[in-house]
Amino acid sequence: MRIAMIGTGYVGLVSGACFADFGHTVTCVDTEEARIESLKAGVMPIYEPGLQAIVERNVGGARLAFTTDATQAVASADAVFIAVGTPSRRGDGYADLSYVRDAASQIATLIEGFTVVVTKSTVPVGTGDEIEAIIRGARPDADFAVVSNPEFLREGSAIEDFKRPDRVVVGLDDERARATMVEIYRPLNLIETPMVVTDRRTSELIKYAANAFLAMKVTFINEIADLCEKVGADVQQVSKGIGLDKRIGPKFLHAGPGFGGSCFPKDTAALIRTGVDAGARMRLVETTAQVNDIRKSGLAGRIAAALGGEVAGRTIGVLGLTFKPNTDDMRAAPALEVIPALRGMGARIQVFDPQALEARRLLPDVEFKAGPYEAVEGADAVVILTEWDQFRALDLERVRALMRSPTIVDLRNVYRPDEMRQRGFTYVSVGRR
Ligand code: NAD
Repeated sequence: MRIAMIGTGYVGLVSGACFADFGHTVTCVDTEEARIESLKAGVMPIYEPGLQAIVERNVGGARLAFTTDATQAVASADAVFIAVGTPSRRGDGYADLSYVRDAASQIATLIEGFTVVVTKSTVPVGTGDEIEAIIRGARPDADFAVVSNPEFLREGSAIEDFKRPDRVVVGLDDERARATMVEIYRPLNLIETPMVVTDRRTSELIKYAANAFLAMKVTFINEIADLCEKVGADVQQVSKGIGLDKRIGPKFLHAGPGFGGSCFPKDTAALIRTGVDAGARMRLVETTAQVNDIRKSGLAGRIAAALGGEVAGRTIGVLGLTFKPNTDDMRAAPALEVIPALRGMGARIQVFDPQALEARRLLPDVEFKAGPYEAVEGADAVVILTEWDQFRALDLERVRALMRSPTIVDLRNVYRPDEMRQRGFTYVSVGRR
């Protein structure tokens, strides 16, 4: 199949590269020239484990190309995927569909012959109808079908997720489009990946329902963690005890600083808007978003408490800035809330993150250090914000010796409280005694 991928970000680039690895011929299009130039030069514009190799392999095999000019790619494509961003609209939580609409208008002018237009971006129910109307309005004669195919990959394990998904969801009402989608995902038959084929609106909603449910699960265990702290229980054991129940499952039961990232915050907000507009309020999701916001805004207070309330003039070392390990994505990361709040209280902040290059722009009043030991040196407290592997086995003797006072606030429960106390740390974690 010939595929054009409109939008070459975290989803478009990974999907495009993996489709090429399946044997399809893929052209990834992006409006950002620097991004395309960088890819043409073999430099990945994002950090995603394994991405470089798969891109190189498929560019080398002439199955993957990059361009800012969609003309040829769209005209010759059997399927055009839309993988542009759908961020929260400032102020009201609705998904900003301007990039999707622009992409649809552009696709309308370029398609030739029967073309399947596939929405991979996360879009509210009814967006497929809108895309269809945009294309039909511009090209009444065009032969096309609009399909919903939401993406479930996770940054940090995106390639594995794309190539071994739990399921593929496809929403359509056109038999030719079904045949195209089956052909595109045929390589997954080998590993017996279930394909959920449904109507477009249901498919659009499946993506939001999945993300809202996961956000709710994370928020639930965070509240249980707060309760554990009050009543002297251990949230890790609670997670294990409930997660072994197959009806609940062990995933997304890790207490921490609250969810962030490029998906859960904006997708819960958008689903809440859809619910209000449809007259079916999503009260659980509304509460989830509120509880998570309160959690994130309370993190600085937790850290201040670990410092005995004295923050002004103290030095705080922060390990990890991205919203989770193995990505460079800083969108809605808890770090963006907690660090300015600590700065506002008068703390000096020194940080280390292995990949968060963009953080230098987002967090201007912060000292960036070359490694974890540099970031803890002279600190009155160290906060573990992201559980990068390299923070899991720090030389704790060295850390203690480098710090001015050995207080660790471990917001990811990386270490064991009893061991940390034995080693002479004042150790605060989440939901544990
Ligand atoms: P991103 O911001 O990393 O990438 C979007 C890209 O689209 C940008 O490079 C931008 O320049 C480009 N673009 C915008 N308009 C364009 C146009 N008209 N033509 C060509 N390129 C254009 O976003 P992302 O994280 O890849 O997310 C894309 C979509 O996938 C969103 O709807 C998101 O919710 C969804 N999604 C994201 C993830 C994730 O983990 N990031 C997972 C599943 C689903």
